[in-house]
Amino acid sequence: MYGIGIVKGLGVTLWHFIETYIDDLRWLGRRYYNDDALAVRQGPEGRGVFTVQYPEEKLPIPEEFRFLPFLVYEQDEDGTAHDRCTSCGICAKVCPPQCIWIVRSDDPDTGRPIPEPAEFYIDIDICMNCGLCAEFCPFDAIKMDHDFELSSDDRFEGHVYNKAKLSRPVDYYASIRPTNYTREEINRAEKQFKKSRRGR
Ligand code: SF4
Ligand code: SF4
Repeated sequence: MYGIGIVKGLGVTLWHFIETYIDDLRWLGRRYYNDDALAVRQGPEGRGVFTVQYPEEKLPIPEEFRFLPFLVYEQDEDGTAHDRCTSCGICAKVCPPQCIWIVRSDDPDTGRPIPEPAEFYIDIDICMNCGLCAEFCPFDAIKMDHDFELSSDDRFEGHVYNKAKLSRPVDYYASIRPTNYTREEINRAEKQFKKSRRGR
């Protein structure tokens, strides 16, 4: 009979609609804005409407998610910051839309280059979030951030991020990308160990 598929489809929609209220009762007062409820609702146990109530409610971000790059710095016990970046310029060379601009540091007495950037700029309106800069950096000095809530009404200077705005401590990197951080630290320790053995 014509139209039977449409009736069945409407029945499925109606059942999902009803299930939403059943789920509301099951999670009374906890269905939204709650990590446990969100995990159930987005998993195979989910029933009813699946809409995420953004921005109050947010889906968890996978570790490999990438938005803008940031610069990693190490900190001494006394809080002194040390850039990992050596201003080698590789990231700027590989960046497809050429949105990285680095100002190298020079020794004021000798005029010789110092391996750290005096300034580092990224035009965030041009960055296409490809992650190539982070892939190619030989010093693990530039990494991709998870923060995507950066909208503003500025179209000019405010969207050219400078070194201060781009820099984050290594602990921050470890907190958003624990798997990558741990792998890199193991590699670093192994390299250090081999180097120390060669030096004997
Ligand atoms: S972020 Fe990495 S690749 Fe880019 S200039 Fe610094 S050290 Fe070189
Ligand atoms: S993520 Fe891609 S586009 Fe953005 S600065 Fe890095 S290399 Fe350039």
